[in-house]
Amino acid sequence: MSQDLSKIAKQKNIKYFLISYVDFFGVLRSKLVPSQVIKDMQKEGAGFAGFATYLDMSPADPDMVSIPDPSSLIQLPWQPEVGWLAGDLWMDGKPVQSSPRVMLKNQISELKKKNMFLKSGVECEYFLISQDGNSIADEKDQAFKPCYDQSALMRQYDLIKEICDCMIKLGWGPYQNDHEDANGQFEMNWDFSDCLTTADRHVFFKFMVKALAEKRGLRATFMPKPFSNKTGNGCHAHVSLWDKKGRNIFLDKKDKLGLSKNAYNFIGGVMHSAEALTAWFNPTINSFKRINAPVTDSGATWSPNTITYSGNNRTHMIRVPGSGRFELRLMDGAVNPYLLQAGIIAAGMDGIKNKRNPGKPIHINMYEEANKVKNAKKLPKNLDIALTNLSKSKVMQKAFSPKTINSYVKLRTTEIKQFKKSGDSKKKGITNWEKTNTLDC
Ligand SMILES: [Mg+2]
Repeated sequence: MSQDLSKIAKQKNIKYFLISYVDFFGVLRSKLVPSQVIKDMQKEGAGFAGFATYLDMSPADPDMVSIPDPSSLIQLPWQPEVGWLAGDLWMDGKPVQSSPRVMLKNQISELKKKNMFLKSGVECEYFLISQDGNSIADEKDQAFKPCYDQSALMRQYDLIKEICDCMIKLGWGPYQNDHEDANGQFEMNWDFSDCLTTADRHVFFKFMVKALAEKRGLRATFMPKPFSNKTGNGCHAHVSLWDKKGRNIFLDKKDKLGLSKNAYNFIGGVMHSAEALTAWFNPTINSFKRINAPVTDSGATWSPNTITYSGNNRTHMIRVPGSGRFELRLMDGAVNPYLLQAGIIAAGMDGIKNKRNPGKPIHINMYEEANKVKNAKKLPKNLDIALTNLSKSKVMQKAFSPKTINSYVKLRTTEIKQFKKSGDSKKKGITNWEKTNTLDC
């Protein structure tokens, strides 16, 4: 056994462990386990009924267990007697192939076979809102262009500082916090890592922000588009590929954008599969009110609607802000942290394998001059279309198996049916159904 959690519990004074997993819809599920039994749980895992969560299982299926990954341990800085553990789902002695963390680990293994390792960082945006979800928590935060507003940022200093202090304590290397482009919207950045670490931290970050906001009587939401006239919550990822000697495979200093041939092919792969990936990266009904939004109060949506790439230009789906990496701006706050990373690897590796050509970068303002771009594909208009694209995607089927893709599509299609049944699908704007089902995503 690599790390003995029972010993760690004694050393760090941990009384309880949260043994967790994340289902298809990105919901964080856990059992709270006293440290006295962690020795057995570390081996056997904590039991769950899969059908009760979004995993396309049947009530007749045997128990699945979450086997905690000790290297993911995070001692809650604000509740140090509790230790959080990301877990991998197993059933009948085998890993559950259709579970997000296992899906990501499989992609990482495929990459490793080619001596490649994905490093990434995520930029999680969130709003601080009232408990009922109808207004911004800070009633003074009303400027048309509130981005980087120092006073609005500092009115939330107590909470922002608490979250940032936690990240410092955890060794994540946080380096900046700001007020984002919508009223009540914030973003906090920490260092990039290997993609599994980033995914685990992404899961924990969302839990931490919601928990600490709640302690102060606020509500934090990562919902893609909580207010129709304001910029939505994106979740951009910065991506680079490395070999085991620590060399950046994406870097070519001689290239205009500082990218290697492999990097362009990887980008070509992401663009090739973007219409399908949208079903994962923009996974809710509400998501499509962000990527296909009219101009907001601030003057821009900051989200893409066309499959293009550029240099350091935020109006495109892919931006190359500096040499040796790119930023994918498609994902929103509802994205499943594991499927985010797994989807990028699958699409990018297909790009490298099949030498997919992304074409020339486009250097125009896509928010104003999109009509100048001929032949660029548009992102899907709604979740229905995105799911159809996902089911048809050979790349995704091959990387994750038709069974897994079908399971995901089936669960999301059920959700669309529930939305239609509620009657809210005929309403304009952000509906109550969306709020009820997405505010806590
Ligand atoms: Mg941002």
